Amino acid sequence: MQHWQKVSQTKPKLLLVDDQRVNILVLHELFREACEVFMATSGEQALQLCRTVSPDLVLLDVCMDGLDGHEVCRRLKADPQTHDIPIIFVTAKGDEADEVHGLELGAVDFIVKPINPIIVKARVNTHLTLKRQSDTLRSFGLLDGLTGVANRRRFDEALALSWRQCRREQRSLAVIMIDVDYFKRYNDHYGHLQGDSCLQAVAKALSDVIKRPHDLLARYGGEEFACVLPNTPLSDAVQIAERMQANVEALSLEHLGSEIGKIVTVSLGVAAITAHHAIEPQALVEEADRQLYRAKQAGRARVCSGTLAASLPSE
Ligand SMILES: [Mg+2]
Repeated sequence: MQHWQKVSQTKPKLLLVDDQRVNILVLHELFREACEVFMATSGEQALQLCRTVSPDLVLLDVCMDGLDGHEVCRRLKADPQTHDIPIIFVTAKGDEADEVHGLELGAVDFIVKPINPIIVKARVNTHLTLKRQSDTLRSFGLLDGLTGVANRRRFDEALALSWRQCRREQRSLAVIMIDVDYFKRYNDHYGHLQGDSCLQAVAKALSDVIKRPHDLLARYGGEEFACVLPNTPLSDAVQIAERMQANVEALSLEHLGSEIGKIVTVSLGVAAITAHHAIEPQALVEEADRQLYRAKQAGRARVCSGTLAASLPSE
């Protein structure tokens, strides 16, 4: 390896938390070469280290005296300074309820004790890579701070790029505009902190639906999200929108201020067009926005769609 490569790559910071010293030592042995390793033997110590050293990943024992792993996770996720730090729970074998609960609390993964060194290394490497990617995007100012999805600026860039590509290949480009129903009432009733958690959960439910590498979900502003789907005809985009709607409803987030079933729902507007020289990509966003307005007018919690009705000059 060249010298400059060595110095340009700082080691990722890994925090190991376990109330049994021997468990920490085993993990330390696995990662001391590749990572800068920090260690804590209690929940309190873990919280303090997270604030002072900002680790790139935490391996967190669930079962500890005092603050247990779940409580540590809850507190890290509630603090804006630490809520982006990915957490992998380390659980005793067979605690399936523990694992489910941990994932619900926002952990990215779990590892079963007694640990298998190959599995632990693979999982840790995967999540360190993801963390580095999102840190890079964040440092370029392209990620939404609250939800971790793309921000408005990145959406505009992706739309312009996809528009040019689809125009060259005469392919269809689709846009979905998404709005959380009765969100102002949600904030009024549950407070802004819970409103933020709601937006994070919705963003995750929406982004779970899009799988192709060039599809992009962004927070467009407030409680509004937008999605750009290159090479996608209207009918396919409508299916994606319907899956998004179903995924958000499956969260079953209570929303007593909503007039639709007392849970959080979204309205979606879909538009698609074969990209054309005579039209600006912004027209596609405006059409999707019109469809979103129709969905709201028709009673919310639904998908409305249309092709872009523009009069094209004959060539
Ligand atoms: Mg323990």
